[in-house]
Amino acid sequence: MTDMAHLGLYGLGTMGSALALNILDNGFPLAVSNRTDQVARDFARESGDLGEKLTTYDDLTAMIKGMSAPRAIIAMVPASAIDDVIADMIPHLDKGDTIIDAGNTDYTDTIRRTKELEEKGLSFIGMGVSGGEDGARHGPSIMVGGTPDAWEGMRPVIEAIAADYEGTPCAAHLGPDGAGHFVKTVHNGIEYADMELIAEIYGLMRYGGGMSPAAIGEQFTSWNDGRLASFLIEITGKILAYDWKGGPAVDRILDSAGQKGTGRWTVIEAIKLGSHASAIEAAVGGRVLSALKEERQTGEATFGAMRDAIDLDLATYEKAFLAARIIAYAQGFDILKIASEENGWDLDHARIAEIWRAGCIIRSALLDDISEAFRSDDLPHGRLLFAPSFTDLLTNGTDAMRTLVCAATGAGHPIPAFSAALSWFDGFRQSRGTADLIQAQRDFFGRHGFVDLNGNTDQHGPWWD
Ligand code: NDP
Repeated sequence: MTDMAHLGLYGLGTMGSALALNILDNGFPLAVSNRTDQVARDFARESGDLGEKLTTYDDLTAMIKGMSAPRAIIAMVPASAIDDVIADMIPHLDKGDTIIDAGNTDYTDTIRRTKELEEKGLSFIGMGVSGGEDGARHGPSIMVGGTPDAWEGMRPVIEAIAADYEGTPCAAHLGPDGAGHFVKTVHNGIEYADMELIAEIYGLMRYGGGMSPAAIGEQFTSWNDGRLASFLIEITGKILAYDWKGGPAVDRILDSAGQKGTGRWTVIEAIKLGSHASAIEAAVGGRVLSALKEERQTGEATFGAMRDAIDLDLATYEKAFLAARIIAYAQGFDILKIASEENGWDLDHARIAEIWRAGCIIRSALLDDISEAFRSDDLPHGRLLFAPSFTDLLTNGTDAMRTLVCAATGAGHPIPAFSAALSWFDGFRQSRGTADLIQAQRDFFGRHGFVDLNGNTDQHGPWWD
């Protein structure tokens, strides 16, 4: 791409329309179109003064033909539609044009598409965008994968529309092809874990501690002034304060959570890479269980409901949550570390933490400390778990987690993410675990052999003598 490509955006749904307004707001001319043409016309009408630099087309083909090369076209459509949308674009594009997939996409598809498009002389950027509708409109966190040339071509636009954290744009070129979408996927995995941990705390305070939603909301709001400060804690405080239709708003919502795939993708990739992201996995599992409403009703009728009272002080919740949140981030960064090594991406973990500090859903006060930890030379095994700056917090915090997990499980409250995070931490604390027995079993039934304590491989136990 030369100096500045002509910019187009296809897909004016929740995210696309917000991103388009953000681009216009930053002074860039923009062409737009949408599958349902009326949506594009409505968008043009509603864009007000921002519409001055907007050109609206009835369909994708007309938009591409109406733009002069070099073009850069952002697609903001569901992952399932991207292949078809690209196929519709290709016949009308010129060599040197760039397609940007700004949706949530499986990074392996991004790697494949990059290769296919490069063979046709086209550039492809896989761009993760986080921050929901408000972020897309006023400044999201943006994770970019693509060639350095493609990045440089789009950089002025991307940095202008991204969130700003103390003068630094929350956007970065993280690596080639699928790197941006992979980091966005793991971001969402961490988001799943953080949301689940918050929901578990809410459940304990509400059904174990007998607190009202409004009182819990006040507590979350006060935590938002301390080390737990974060977007998700802030909005939870606000949500729980709402009354609606004669009672707490949260009580008017079915307790079955949706998911579109990124949490599941994170867990699948973690497992494929040999990484152990138990809190993220527990969060995905928690949503799966939540969707089994009828089965849970049968379970309650069959086994009886158990949700006894518990008495935990507020400081225990706070410390436990902070430690569990660090563990969820640590698990996410572990996945990034292994994926970076496997794919040769050389991901900059400190920079990733920095671009998550504003605009995105998992923005939190902890991310400054996390980026500092990754910048330091003193990070054993390159793992956040061992950052010296977090040692005291984790030592004290996991004591609080233990208190919380014991109380909750004893009283029958499900807390899958807290339990999984604590066991993961405890597993890292044992220099000698119990896999010696697993190796013995594998050797006993399958002659798989084991490594002895002197490092000798292919050893067999006395059961084969
Ligand atoms: P919406 O459902 O609001 O909008 C989807 C858009 O895609 C619409 O413009 C729709 O057109 C278009 N579209 C759907 N199917 C097709 C198709 N087969 N061919 C062409 N166009 C199609 O989705 P969002 O804006 O929420 O999400 C868009 C992308 O952004 C997704 O990948 C999502 O995962 C990602 N994302 C969403 C976030 C969010 O908070 N909502 C946050 C971060 C990323 P039409 O008007 O004709 O239906």
